[in-house]
Amino acid sequence: MTAFHNIVVVGGGGAGLRAATAIAEANPLLSVAIVSKVYPMRSHTVSAEGGAAAVIADDDSLDEHAYDTVSGGDWLVEQDAVEAFVREAPTELLRLEHQGCPWSRQPDGRIAVRAFGGMKKKRTWFAADKTGFHLLHTLFQTALSYQDIVRYDEWFVTKLLEDEGGVHGVVAVELATGRIETIIANAVIVCTGGCGRVFPFTTNANIKTGDGMALAHRAGAPLKDMEFVQYHPTGLPFTGILITEATRAEGGWLLNKDGYRYLQDYDLGRPTAEPVLRSMELGPRDRLSQAFMHEHAKGRTIETPYGPIVHLDLRHLGAHVIDTKLPFVRELCSKYQNIDPVKELIPVRPVVHYMMGGIHTDIDGATPVGGLYAAGEVACVSINGANRLGSNSLPELLVFGARAGKAAAEYVRELKTGPRSAVYAQGRDEERRLRHELGKRTEGTERIADIRTEMQTTMEEGAGIYRDGDSLDKAAVKLHELRERFDRAAIDDHSSEFNTELIALLELDFMLDIAQSIVACAGRRTESRGAHQRTDFPKRDDEHFLAHSLVHHSGRVEYLPVTITRWPPGERVYGR
Ligand SMILES: Cc1cc2nc3c(=O)[nH]c(=O)nc-3n(C[C@H](O)[C@H](O)[C@H](O)COP(=O)(O)OP(=O)(O)OC[C@H]3O[C@@H](n4cnc5c(N)ncnc54)[C@H](O)[C@@H]3O)c2cc1C
Repeated sequence: MTAFHNIVVVGGGGAGLRAATAIAEANPLLSVAIVSKVYPMRSHTVSAEGGAAAVIADDDSLDEHAYDTVSGGDWLVEQDAVEAFVREAPTELLRLEHQGCPWSRQPDGRIAVRAFGGMKKKRTWFAADKTGFHLLHTLFQTALSYQDIVRYDEWFVTKLLEDEGGVHGVVAVELATGRIETIIANAVIVCTGGCGRVFPFTTNANIKTGDGMALAHRAGAPLKDMEFVQYHPTGLPFTGILITEATRAEGGWLLNKDGYRYLQDYDLGRPTAEPVLRSMELGPRDRLSQAFMHEHAKGRTIETPYGPIVHLDLRHLGAHVIDTKLPFVRELCSKYQNIDPVKELIPVRPVVHYMMGGIHTDIDGATPVGGLYAAGEVACVSINGANRLGSNSLPELLVFGARAGKAAAEYVRELKTGPRSAVYAQGRDEERRLRHELGKRTEGTERIADIRTEMQTTMEEGAGIYRDGDSLDKAAVKLHELRERFDRAAIDDHSSEFNTELIALLELDFMLDIAQSIVACAGRRTESRGAHQRTDFPKRDDEHFLAHSLVHHSGRVEYLPVTITRWPPGERVYGR
């Protein structure tokens, strides 16, 4: 079966929906398809809790937001992209307001803003602690109002189609029926989110398996800065469920096993009763996660069956603050940990949260491959550099989703040639491959669950918060072995309807690619910067590594200089 649209957007999360509406606004005559492996409202954006950063308060400025972002990213940041980002973020959030997003307000009716890690000013807009739900809902209902946005809900994209003229569509499987369709288009925008599931403990939903990164990589787009993986300091130990940074913005404390606010020992300032911006618990995520590792090495964490933990203490905030500002946190703690944060300490540990790296794009979401765009967490523009600041991701997916949508609409308007026959042939080949996967994998000796678990453990051990040359070499060897074993993996389900085992197989295939890219880039970067900490190279090395890594599908890694407009590299100082 073949379908035709002008532009295909892969992903129905925040970035995908924003890109689709931007296309519809730029040119209402274009037919846009949103292909999503889950119903759009189930995309990971829905689970964002804390908020979205954009300058709105009288005492704040675009330059301060830009500087916090550049220094937070340890200068591995495209400064022209950051300038565009901070300029356009307030407009995007106000636009959502006009479309119905219920931002929390101050008593006088103005937008309320809260503090967030690494930010010098309070500039994080929020809708209680369900920001992502309200943001995604607003985007979704806006997308519904455009007739020419067609949705393929619960369709899984397995391949990007391309010829010399660029990318010309996708192949996708309908999960409910197993129907395989070639969807032809003149441009594709990949908005498939992150890849936290490559690691064992993560805040990321099960669906975050890096599909789009692998799809684009296979179609010839390089991946950028893949060694930079963000650990969030406060996940629940077993499930990895996130306890939002907003808990610390409201005044929560991190305590070690002796009940001591240990962050004071790590150049992050001194304890105070009221939270102080960029200090102690409001330091950046990389520093807080690294401090946890040092506490563990000193024997000051608590052992549990799910690894070492420390405690997050919210008790002094009282029931009123928790119920009005953090109601979802109370609900999560009660349902998943069986504790009440009003009276009890919350056990937490660093868990993988966000991917700074991703598909290499320019400031308009364009990749080096014609007709291929990317936006949201899957992309690397890069405004996040070596460490993303909390609450910058939601405005990022709005600003760059919109930019990618506009740029793709312009690209298809100017395109002179349509897809050649080779594209249709590729579609048929992919269909054959998928049928073969279903039929052939009956007698393999390997289980996909085993390979996935071993991959996740390998990544945590070899490429976790701290890495070194030896751990990364071992991880590379192990991943190579897992890739070979993957070829011998069997599946038991050979039916067409809702074959989740086939999907798990395809996702594992993507994740192995991503894991190898992370390890390859981390092995080459012999310095420490932001979230990439090498115990064998503990210093930042601007002379050699103030540069983005670009890994190609062949495994070749090259470096791209960083764009510096106004903020020369300096020291990252917090707590003062
Ligand atoms: C628990 C949690 C809390 C967070 N809180 C905040 C916060 O408070 N503030 C903030 O700024 N950031 C936060 N983040 C980060 C932020 O929410 C994400 O980075 C962002 O929402 C990603 O949006 P996205 O549109 O790029 O991708 P997603 O929302 O993940 O959407 C990806 C889409 O791609 C589709 N897809 C994927 N693969 C395929 C495929 N093969 N075929 C078809 N479709 C596919 C999925 O169906 C989905 O629709 C949080 C993240 C988590 C995990």
